[in-house]
Amino acid sequence: MKKAELKQYKERLLAMRTRLRGAVNHLADSALNKNRRDGGDLSTMPIHMADLGSDNFEQEFTLSLMETEEDTLNAIEKALERIEEGTYGICEECEVKIPKARLNALPYSTLCVKCATKIEQRR
Ligand SMILES: [Zn+2]
Repeated sequence: MKKAELKQYKERLLAMRTRLRGAVNHLADSALNKNRRDGGDLSTMPIHMADLGSDNFEQEFTLSLMETEEDTLNAIEKALERIEEGTYGICEECEVKIPKARLNALPYSTLCVKCATKIEQRR
């Protein structure tokens, strides 16, 4: 891959990382605030069971969203490392070149579509 192209992907990855970090922090904050509110604050009214249920659901949803974002962040870190190593754009598994269309859609992908599908099925 040409240096100029690599630089473009690197810039996109860095921008994505900044954005995601902000999003994760924001989600973590709101999840924590919920915890605090549901916790031992004696001045609040007794919590209705139904409300508690939906709050927990919402919190779990937020936490699972955070996990996905963290996974993406990890993938971005890995892709950035691969840019430094000079292996960016090459599939980690089978070492074929990852098509540009895929990199443009998912700049942090370190696997070709075939291997990504295979790993997905292994889970
Ligand atoms: Zn592959």
